Amino acid sequence: MKITEVKLALLSAPLRVPFRTALREVSHVEDIVVEVHTDDGAVGRGEAPPTAAVTGETLGSIAAALRGHIGPAIVGKDVRSLEELLLSIERSIVGNTSAKAAAEIAVWDLYAQYCGLPLYKLLGGGRNILETDITISVNDPETMAKDTADAISRGYDTLKIKVGENPALDIERLRAVRAAAPKAVIRIDANQAWSPRQAVNLLESMQAEGLNIELVEQPVKAKDIDGLQFVTNNSPVRVMADESMFSPLDAMTIMQRHAADYVNIKLMKCGGLANALRIISAAEVYGVECMIGCMLEAKVSVTAAVHLACAKGAITRVDLDGPALCSADPVSGGAEFNGKQIALPDAAGLGISGISGLRYLD
Ligand code: MG
Repeated sequence: MKITEVKLALLSAPLRVPFRTALREVSHVEDIVVEVHTDDGAVGRGEAPPTAAVTGETLGSIAAALRGHIGPAIVGKDVRSLEELLLSIERSIVGNTSAKAAAEIAVWDLYAQYCGLPLYKLLGGGRNILETDITISVNDPETMAKDTADAISRGYDTLKIKVGENPALDIERLRAVRAAAPKAVIRIDANQAWSPRQAVNLLESMQAEGLNIELVEQPVKAKDIDGLQFVTNNSPVRVMADESMFSPLDAMTIMQRHAADYVNIKLMKCGGLANALRIISAAEVYGVECMIGCMLEAKVSVTAAVHLACAKGAITRVDLDGPALCSADPVSGGAEFNGKQIALPDAAGLGISGISGLRYLD
């Protein structure tokens, strides 16, 4: 099972409605797909989205890292030596976590195919069904109330609301969402927008008027671990680290200092499943619950995240709505999305049998 070739392609999938946050508006998911081929005809697949604002990676940089560094580090190696392959990917280039994750997911896919097991079973998991939350895009309060009612009618009971654009308007938006969904779990994501004291004040006023926020993601700047700890110690709302945690070392620092109550693991931030497993081990040691999240990703890399979440009890919250936000799914096999429910097939590896409409890069 020697790796003979690493092929790159562009995958494009339209979104149901444009995805809007305080920073950007996007109408399509456009990602790099990696296919790792072996001399016995097997294909492993991975995927990486460009999220310049989070990981610093673009479509061009992902392709260049895979073509110039990560691909050459694994071609000629045997799939049966998973440990060696993972180390080769890790050492091939500094940073470039999404490009590494794409190659790494493809290698895990191949290894699980070789073992004849779905990836979640290879990782020790016994369940193959999860429930995800859904993101409500930032809009005027009336539109957000309508989108909320629509999500509730489609069966979702946990909503994730992006905030941080304009504090007064954010509270109005949350009032509209809460009125449209009195019983839903509402979590908010400030994406680094607030100062530590401002975060505590805003969260206090949200809870004082009964908005009943479950948790807040990344209230302060990614590098401000002191500020994150301040919010965690003083806020009436539980705090989750997202942009503050990329690596297992970041996770250890946050957990040792209790700078956050929860952490959000994304394969694209940590560089793949091996580092995600290290973060989960730390979380198990410290008794910290994890969320598994994704970027605006299609179903290849999200399927890998679903396998991981099905295998690990430390992952208690699931924010894998990327594919649910798309109006078409070019991926055959893999995770099946049915409203809030995500189920995995019993096929070996990721369980993905093909992807239509790929544009191969040479
Ligand atoms: Mg986040």
